[in-house]
Amino acid sequence: MYDRLQAHLQKELADIREAGLYKEERIITTPQGAVIKVDTGAEVLNFCANNYLGLSNNPQLIAAAKEALDSHGHGLSSVRFICGTQDIHKTLEAKIAEFFGTEDTILYAACFDANGGVFEPLLTEEDAIISDSLNHASIIDGVRLSKAQRYRFANADMADLEEQLKKAQAQRFRIIVTDGVFSMDGNVAPMDKIYQLAQKYDALIMVDECHSAGVVGETGRGVTELFDLRGKIEIITGTLGKAFGGAIGGFTTGKKEIIELLRQRSRPYLFSNSLPPAVVASGIKMFDMMAETNELQDRLHENTAYFLDKMIQAGFDIKPTRSAICAVMLYDAKLSQEMADKLLDEGIYVIGFYYPVVPKGQARIRVQISAAHTREHLDRCITAFTKVGKEMGVLKN
Ligand SMILES: *Cc1c(COP(=O)(O)O)cnc(C)c1O
Repeated sequence: MYDRLQAHLQKELADIREAGLYKEERIITTPQGAVIKVDTGAEVLNFCANNYLGLSNNPQLIAAAKEALDSHGHGLSSVRFICGTQDIHKTLEAKIAEFFGTEDTILYAACFDANGGVFEPLLTEEDAIISDSLNHASIIDGVRLSKAQRYRFANADMADLEEQLKKAQAQRFRIIVTDGVFSMDGNVAPMDKIYQLAQKYDALIMVDECHSAGVVGETGRGVTELFDLRGKIEIITGTLGKAFGGAIGGFTTGKKEIIELLRQRSRPYLFSNSLPPAVVASGIKMFDMMAETNELQDRLHENTAYFLDKMIQAGFDIKPTRSAICAVMLYDAKLSQEMADKLLDEGIYVIGFYYPVVPKGQARIRVQISAAHTREHLDRCITAFTKVGKEMGVLKN
């Protein structure tokens, strides 16, 4: 039997390569950071990690993780409800709720699991999920796992959302689901308008804060801070794997009855292992640091504003953004790959994205800014972009 499957898989793999869609892994030999080394020995400036606050290799978080290895051990060998809940898991859940101004929190192994396990326990075929067309793959999978009726609206298109809400009046409960920040453009969901429509059409809201938590809003509390909606959104999901330290771990935080029911019925929570103590303890430390100081968020906001300003001045076509994601538009797939390669030669590590990751004709290089970038790092990146951009004729001036 395997002979036939093997031939089939070999063809599939060849097709992926032929289409230019084969994903190679680049090997890094250092901790994650603004400056990294790759396995060729080259040192590069990293502008493609979700390390928005520069915490992936933070000494205080590492120290907290090491301490927890001694005090709470390496792993739990259990799901949460059998014998996998330690005092620190409860502490971290409380800290997350405090950070977002919500009532309770449930931890997952990853946000992929949080999104995968949130809809099925709460909604039945009598209910409706109204989902933004650019929502993350894990939301799409989570929606698929539920029996609720599905509606889709064009990305951040409020007229379309209103249309879908009108159709969904037929159902018992309705929930509007959106990413807080969309990862390819860096645009922020118009939560103020979504909230108004939710009020008007009697709907709940769920927002995925993976790219917005720690980043958006004056103190990094995410889109509910940016739009003055703290405590008003029923469900927020997020990750500890991006701005919040970069290790692993996801969560759902929101109304207490919702979280309580998820603890009873959410399958990735019930049937998958508890987060390891080292990760939990560094998470607690991270939220304590954020409660103490706004230094990292301030630096991230300064860095992003500086970078955007200089890149626009240099003549690049940048998608409007309110996050730390800056999409340098090139509109040509091949050009995006060549330009990313040339930038790597200049010591700048960025990735070019093209169809099907972004719509056809919308190829770009995505730059992600971090609080860990110094002014000198940013200047080197801008200089390299300008040099390569000129060579390749993509500058507007
Ligand atoms: C990264 C991401 C996830 C997945 O988070 P993990 O914790 O890595 O599983 C989910 N949703 C969005 C919007 C993301 O960007």
